[in-house]
Amino acid sequence: MLGISACLGGSACRYDGGSNEITALKELVETGQAVMICPEVLGGLPTPRHPAEIQGGDGFDVWLDQAKVMDNAGNDVTEAFKQGAIKAFEEMQKQGITGLVLKERSPSCGSSLIYDGSFSGTRIKGVGVATAYFIQQGLPVYSEENWQEMRMT
Ligand code: SF4
Repeated sequence: MLGISACLGGSACRYDGGSNEITALKELVETGQAVMICPEVLGGLPTPRHPAEIQGGDGFDVWLDQAKVMDNAGNDVTEAFKQGAIKAFEEMQKQGITGLVLKERSPSCGSSLIYDGSFSGTRIKGVGVATAYFIQQGLPVYSEENWQEMRMT
């Protein structure tokens, strides 16, 4: 069973109230081969919400308390991001998920690129807060850009 970012499966849970639907991933959900998770919503954040970026590092640094997640209104949303990652992982354990396809460049779900925290559109190498947690728990994480390399289980 796969876990996928809910926005990739067509859920309107993006910060701006939109989705990033990818038909092939939505079909995996509809045929019972994947379940959708949105760490930011599970962390209690509303939709729509202010866009947020990691400042001071990437998701791994957030778990080391060396970076934080701020939204563009100046709110520190680090705890919501961390709690959402933990809740999403608990949910995935119940569902027997063995691999993930997560939305690239998201401060939660990014797996190779994120934004640099300046809200200027500048991308840097790094992973999101939830992605870092899932990797630390031993789950393989792919993005919508490379998920077809994943061996389906
Ligand atoms: S937290 Fe992940 S699943 Fe939720 S909207 Fe952002 S990219 Fe999509």
